[in-house]
Amino acid sequence: MTQRFISDARLDALRDALVNWYSANARTLPWRSDPAPWRVWVSEVMLQQTRVDTVVPYFERFIERFDSPRSLAESTETEVLSAWAGLGYYQRARSLYAGARAIVEDHDGEIPSRFDALRALPGVGDYTAGAIASIAFGQREPIVDGNVERVLSRLVALNGDPKRAPQKQSLRTLARRIADHRAPGTVNQAMMELGAMVCSPRTPRCEVCPVKTWCGAWALGTPEKFPQSPPRLAPTPENWTALVPHRGQALWLARSLTQRWTGLLVPAMTSGTEPPDAITLRSLFGLEVRNVTPIGTVEHTLTHAKLFVSISTAELLDFPTSPMRGVLDTPTKLLALGLPKITTKVLAKITGVDANPSSPKAKRRRPPSPH
Ligand code: SF4
Repeated sequence: MTQRFISDARLDALRDALVNWYSANARTLPWRSDPAPWRVWVSEVMLQQTRVDTVVPYFERFIERFDSPRSLAESTETEVLSAWAGLGYYQRARSLYAGARAIVEDHDGEIPSRFDALRALPGVGDYTAGAIASIAFGQREPIVDGNVERVLSRLVALNGDPKRAPQKQSLRTLARRIADHRAPGTVNQAMMELGAMVCSPRTPRCEVCPVKTWCGAWALGTPEKFPQSPPRLAPTPENWTALVPHRGQALWLARSLTQRWTGLLVPAMTSGTEPPDAITLRSLFGLEVRNVTPIGTVEHTLTHAKLFVSISTAELLDFPTSPMRGVLDTPTKLLALGLPKITTKVLAKITGVDANPSSPKAKRRRPPSPH
């Protein structure tokens, strides 16, 4: 199969077609109507692994509460995680928080316009730096997210896995050529929008695509065969137990030390199918309980693992009082602290009430969630 090269002349025409299509078809989204650097930054971080319609209400609430890097930097991590609660992938919130603090400490509160300065911020990768630089500041920098990777792979009928270094470099070079335009932010967003709305993973709508004339995969008649990614491995099954001790109406949750939920509130979790014994509870969590009662099970799928979690409650006799080890409070107050999905699922099973029934289900670009 021959991989295509798009000449500069053809690239000019392709960009014009893209920009015209985008002008007529772009969705109205809150970060597009006012592409200020902080708004672009927050939106791009939220959009990683999460669908646009899920992000919109979170974005509006978050920006209203934290209207600048300084206002975020001056908040506590608990406040930030609480505002992020329900969006999942909490490491994104921590990265944004770290980036905002660096803006205050090293840039006097002003977001820099240059790619290199943006890229040097904690938690800011090529993608986010390219988005802020091109969309907010009009710099000729490429953006390669999952949607753009797919569109570009199809345009040139890319041979091989686009995640491998040579292919990745080749797509980035093409993205850089495309962004070398009088309106780089617009052409970049047009590529992303095309990937989201037309050039979908399984059923691309080539008949209405503005760039099909230049598309190698369309010419071959097999667009859905690109990108040539290796099949995704099925998540590995894991058995876990989750104990949530209670005292009256209050439930105790542990501050997680594991990488999966670092710093977030989770049940006292141990691997296996049997609830932990008294010695394990004391040594791992500082807990003393009695009357351990099995409640049922929940399943929870993460990026690489599928968890089968056996849930128990117990009467709480003793627990560590430091908030760094855990928190004892009513379910309503615990939910207000911002809990990862595994915890809300377990609480729903224990209380019989869906912890967050009105929240939109976070459908992901790259399922499933790490939280
Ligand atoms: Fe994607 Fe089809 Fe357009 Fe090619 S022609 S970019 S495969 S939608």
